[in-house]
Amino acid sequence: MGRFTLPRDLYFGEGSLETLKTLKGKKAVLCLGGGSMKRFGFVDQVVEYLKEAGIETKLIEGIEPDPSVETVMKGAEAMREFEPDLIVAMGGGSPIDAAKAMWVFYEHPETTFDDIKDPFTIPELRNKAKFIAIPSTSGTATEVTAFSVITDYSAGIKYPLADFEITPDIAIVDPALAETMPQTLTAHTGMDALTHAIEAYVAGLHSPFSDPLAIQAIEMIFDNLKASYEGDMEARGNMHIAQCLAGMAFSNALLGIVHSLAHKTGAVFDTGHIPHGCANAIYLPYVIQFNAKVCEDRFAMIARKLGLPGITDKALTNSLIKAVKELRASLHIVSNLKDFGVKEDEFLEKKHMIAERAVGDACTGSNPRETSVEDMEKVLECIYYGKDVTF
Ligand code: FE
Repeated sequence: MGRFTLPRDLYFGEGSLETLKTLKGKKAVLCLGGGSMKRFGFVDQVVEYLKEAGIETKLIEGIEPDPSVETVMKGAEAMREFEPDLIVAMGGGSPIDAAKAMWVFYEHPETTFDDIKDPFTIPELRNKAKFIAIPSTSGTATEVTAFSVITDYSAGIKYPLADFEITPDIAIVDPALAETMPQTLTAHTGMDALTHAIEAYVAGLHSPFSDPLAIQAIEMIFDNLKASYEGDMEARGNMHIAQCLAGMAFSNALLGIVHSLAHKTGAVFDTGHIPHGCANAIYLPYVIQFNAKVCEDRFAMIARKLGLPGITDKALTNSLIKAVKELRASLHIVSNLKDFGVKEDEFLEKKHMIAERAVGDACTGSNPRETSVEDMEKVLECIYYGKDVTF
């Protein structure tokens, strides 16, 4: 049996933020990140629209990147005091992810993180509040997904919460918010979205429901990402839609080992943090080569839809890899970890540990090709030195 779950309503395009005026409710909390939404005037706008709907709003501000368990628990407590019937989360992936987790502990104060750390263990929501997500970056697509990542800094663990209970009720995908993204963030989040779509198209749970979403996302990303990066705001708006389509696909089809590797290499090297989308951009072509052993026909299908040259599945897959590399280069993202600046000694010392952790990542189970620690380590070596994956 398959399952396919998305938000009940999706409002998109210019002016879609205004739909907040039509919401039914009495009290809303508005969950926010660092302050850019306030600076650009979107917070005032949202509060005003909610006021027009007769809704009183309380702000939960300052949700940090990679939100912590403490932030979530504090927010849930604020919600329990205020008793909202609407939770509105606006900003990048972090405030929306944090608000999803706050929602769980608002509705179920007796629950602990430990109770909900495994997939599909979140108790029933929507008895107290509905959830509205408004993304300002074009990448994670958390506004339509069943996922939220919360960090327990004291234990050094990331909780990847996964349950359709936390799929938002309403997503508002307004291009005006994405126009505020800086250039590098546009590149990284865009490549994250491309990785979501390509991984979802070949992932274990891909289906006739997720496939068209993934393909449409891939086409739109190839058509728009470079222009969006260069400041074309129409393309930026198209990317905002494309990343959301990719999110709809991967929330249901799941992902693969590009994400496993990105999760486990993001914070492990002394050279500094590798932004999630940047890591995905570097790793994607290598993983396509690795996975092509078992699903070359699927990569060839993507290449055909993109109108790339080639007749055989092999030639078409090579064209897709070349196209991904060209797109990546046009965004000024490096092509291997050595060029990113990771020191060779440190890489050699840590590669086995990273490979072990990556095999244990939640995304490895849905990768189309079964991946042993030895395989993962060999892929990592290729990624470091910039060598083709040929095994
Ligand atoms: Fe991602």
